Amino acid sequence: MVDTISADTVVSIHYTLRGEDQKVLDSAEGADPLMYLHGHGQIIPGLEKQLAGKKIGDSVKAEVAPAEGYGEFDEGLILSLERNQFPKDAKLEMGVMFELAGPQNETLVVRVTKIEADSIEVDGNHPLAGKKLFFDVSVVALRPATKEEITHGHAHGPGGHHH
Ligand code: ZN
Repeated sequence: MVDTISADTVVSIHYTLRGEDQKVLDSAEGADPLMYLHGHGQIIPGLEKQLAGKKIGDSVKAEVAPAEGYGEFDEGLILSLERNQFPKDAKLEMGVMFELAGPQNETLVVRVTKIEADSIEVDGNHPLAGKKLFFDVSVVALRPATKEEITHGHAHGPGGHHH
C-alpha cells in the first residue's frame, strides 16, 4: 500500500494543462488517466515536485515556471537551413517536424517555422518552451512500482508504457 506520492510510486492522474491565457493546451479529461513512475523524470520537474506527498482524491493546482517545465526559449535553436540540406522528397510545410543531428551529434527535433525561396527556418525549441504552465491535476490511483518498472524507469500497463 502507498498512501502518498513518493519515489517509486506509480501514479495515475487526470490533468488539464492551460497556458498563461487560460487556453487549454493539453487535457486527459475524459480519457484514461495518465500513469507515470514518480521520481524518475517521466513528467516535467515542476509538476513532479508539486505532486510529491499528495494522496488519492487530492486536487492539485500546479503553476510551473519554464525552467521547471519545458525549458526557457533558446534563440540559438532557431536555425536557418538551405533547402538543399533537406532530402529531395522532404515535405516542407509549416509546422512539420524533422530530426536533425545537433552539434554534438545528438538528435534535435525541429519544427519548420518559416519557408523562403531557398532557405528554411526551423525551431528546435519544445513548443511549450518559455511558457508558464498551469496544471489542474487530480490524483486517481497510487500503487508501489514493480522492480521491473523501477529498472526501466517508467510505469507499465494501461495509461503507462507498452512494450
Ligand atoms: Zn518498461
